[in-house]
Amino acid sequence: MLNVDLEACIGCKMCERVCPFAAIIVEPETKKAKVLDGCTLCGTCVGVCPVDALSIERKAVSEEEIALYKNVFIWGEWEKKGEKKVIKSVVLELLGKGKELAEKLDESLAVVLPGNNVEHLVPELFHYGADKVYLCEHELLEDYSTDGYTSVIASVIASEKPSIVLYGATPNGRDLAPRIAGRLALGLTADCTGLDINESRQLVQTRPAFGGNIMASILSPYTRPQMSTVRPNVFPKPVINVTKTGIVEEVEVNLRPVSIRTKIIEEIISQEDSINIEEAKILVSAGRGVGSKENLHFIDELAKAVEGTVSGSRPLVDLGWLPHPQQVGQSGKTVAPTLYFALGISGAVQHLVGMTSSDTVIAINKDKEAPIFEVADFGIVGDMFEIIQEFVKLVEEEKAKKTA
Ligand SMILES: Cc1cc2nc3c(=O)[nH]c(=O)nc-3n(C[C@H](O)[C@H](O)[C@H](O)COP(=O)(O)OP(=O)(O)OC[C@H]3O[C@@H](n4cnc5c(N)ncnc54)[C@H](O)[C@@H]3O)c2cc1C
Ligand code: SF4
Ligand code: SF4
Repeated sequence: MLNVDLEACIGCKMCERVCPFAAIIVEPETKKAKVLDGCTLCGTCVGVCPVDALSIERKAVSEEEIALYKNVFIWGEWEKKGEKKVIKSVVLELLGKGKELAEKLDESLAVVLPGNNVEHLVPELFHYGADKVYLCEHELLEDYSTDGYTSVIASVIASEKPSIVLYGATPNGRDLAPRIAGRLALGLTADCTGLDINESRQLVQTRPAFGGNIMASILSPYTRPQMSTVRPNVFPKPVINVTKTGIVEEVEVNLRPVSIRTKIIEEIISQEDSINIEEAKILVSAGRGVGSKENLHFIDELAKAVEGTVSGSRPLVDLGWLPHPQQVGQSGKTVAPTLYFALGISGAVQHLVGMTSSDTVIAINKDKEAPIFEVADFGIVGDMFEIIQEFVKLVEEEKAKKTA
């Protein structure tokens, strides 16, 4: 229930202006806010009231109410590549997993797509499995903003009542999902590595816990929707079906500049961010076994020979030898290259969780008992520096033969 503190209310009409459902008005006679029947408890007005006169009281959802929540939703995050807006690949990965969950529940799969001029992205979402797209277009959604995107997605969730909402654990997804969870008083499980439906039709959200030493299965039994974030490269992309179509529902977006407290003035892409290990096809990853920052030139030489990208384990980042965007693992990135070189990496669980989606793993380690060999397709026991030099020589010879 949305409560108005009539003593505090100054009749400024901010709430009336931002409500997406025209569910709150300021009465002309009393000059105080009054909540109408259409209120979905989306929370948009609460954040803009200058005198904190609005508050939401939420009760635990009863079993009967839980049964009313249906369908799996995914946040349709997109990014700008040059002048083009493109769907982030994690959304396509979530469509594959989302379809599986929706089929188990016998429900449908929808994408909430906020943005400005993003209608061209809709067919791709259908081709990867969406049955419906909620298209939320508005010029104030041209760039991601926590306020704008939270308001629009929370409104769609509040009115459509999905049973599950999934977000990519991208930088913006990590910002958005907790804000929506906070606004709608929902649970949220971050960085899930597994999602399934149990016999009680609940979402079982699996993720590493206690420093990655156990895998925890988390349920949200008392709130709906159940919400999770999933990192890129955790689930495979589904097979595309270019003949598949679906339903587009255009959502009327009621946003005003006053609802958005932040503005992007300038975007500066740092050189570190331009190395995207999440999309690399070949990764040459170094561990503490590299010994020193100077020795990283061995890794660079191998990466150059195989046209790969350099990444590493956490100790290298902690030591300042590699920047954080190049860290693989639980507190770094999850990667899924076709080829992953693990050089002087022991294979701690926190590292493995970030790279076991790789197609082929080649590990070099001088300790034959190192756990990395348990996940490696090819394991070489020995000194990495000697082996790297031999390997680079062989690759260069092969290249020379091809060009001769
Ligand atoms: C909450 C939490 C989050 C974490 N997140 C991450 C994460 O995101 N990513 C991550 O990587 N770690 C993470 N860790 C740290 C993780 O537990 C390990 O400490 C780390 O992965 C070890 O890195 P490493 O394998 O490079 O080093 P080590 O475990 O020290 O292994 C070095 C290896 O190099 C081998 N070696 C040494 N010299 C040579 C040589 N000349 N030739 C060949 N082999 C050689 C050794 O035999 C050894 O196996 C996290 C830990 C915690 C608690
Ligand atoms: S909670 Fe949402 S629907 Fe209810 S009055 Fe406020 S803005 Fe409108
Ligand atoms: S925003 Fe707050 S102070 Fe302004 S009318 Fe609404 S409840 Fe009253």
